[in-house]
Amino acid sequence: MSSFIAKKIKKTYAGKIALSEFSLEMNRGDFISIVGESGSGKSTLLRIMAGLEVQDSGQVFLENEEILNPKKKLVPGYDEVKLIHQDYHLFPNSTVSENIRRPLLQYDKNYAKAREEKLLEQFGLKELQGRFPRQLSGGQQQKVAIAAALAIEPEVLLLDEPFSSLDTIQKHQLIDELGDLFKQWKTTVVFVTHDLDDALRLTDNLIILKKGKVVQKGNSFELCTHPQSQYVARLFSPINPIPGQKDAYLRPNEVKLRSKGGLLGHVVDLRFLVHYNLLQIKLKESNKIWEVDDPHRKYQVGDRVYVQWEEEKVMLLPS
Ligand code: ADP
Ligand code: MG
Repeated sequence: MSSFIAKKIKKTYAGKIALSEFSLEMNRGDFISIVGESGSGKSTLLRIMAGLEVQDSGQVFLENEEILNPKKKLVPGYDEVKLIHQDYHLFPNSTVSENIRRPLLQYDKNYAKAREEKLLEQFGLKELQGRFPRQLSGGQQQKVAIAAALAIEPEVLLLDEPFSSLDTIQKHQLIDELGDLFKQWKTTVVFVTHDLDDALRLTDNLIILKKGKVVQKGNSFELCTHPQSQYVARLFSPINPIPGQKDAYLRPNEVKLRSKGGLLGHVVDLRFLVHYNLLQIKLKESNKIWEVDDPHRKYQVGDRVYVQWEEEKVMLLPS
């Protein structure tokens, strides 16, 4: 029996669909990322799952208990289901320690103290415990916010783009640390983001949301190698249409560059990226421009080059 379940959640705002029949089943300790562009319904979904928003229809259950929405529950929200979003604010005049202890005020003093110590330790915040939020980097502040949210040991953590305001290095560091902690604790985590890279870094269990609908779900390898639509394919990389073959596409890293054989083109643009050069190649016959990775940094703008591929790398993607 799953422990956290969303059943056919539907939500409209003034007749416009924000979520249509969204369902999800998670076991204790499961970790899932929901990826969708801005406006696809991610925040709406998390607010409904946290009992903070009224859905039109559908239900959410935690351990067989229905999560009641604000229409049905006097004090909205649940201690067991914690929602954290991007601009989650710490109390500015409270130290790191005090911010983490705050949710524990109604609890037994010894328990509260032990819990605070443990969180400071696990989050690597001991040295910062006396600082105020303004004395912390964005990444550190967000880490404190997440530690505070975990103070009362929620069963489910809902993360709404919590890393969006951080720079890449801070973000990667925090994602890696959190990923390890969540695994240790067996917290059930739903992470929503518009950024596929962040999602992939945290988990390989993905749901792709588009305009309030699930368009595909599965593990990251499956989604990348067997996308069922151009939309999902394009989240991972640009895709190149094969001239004369209907709905057939190739990823930039699956195209081989050769000095003869295949389709002739020439390099019209080159970008130096960290792990490879990204080329734009104009194909001679079709005049189409392909994006192709050049991992050996062999080609220059103006070069003539032939593109080739293996049949098994071709993706068939109806639009
Ligand atoms: P995301 O978090 O993926 O960006 P949201 O859940 O915030 O998406 O929004 C989904 C859709 O619902 C969007 O079209 C948005 O404009 C609309 N929406 C969200 N909240 C409200 C609201 N309070 N009133 C009216 N429309 C809303
Ligand atoms: Mg949002």
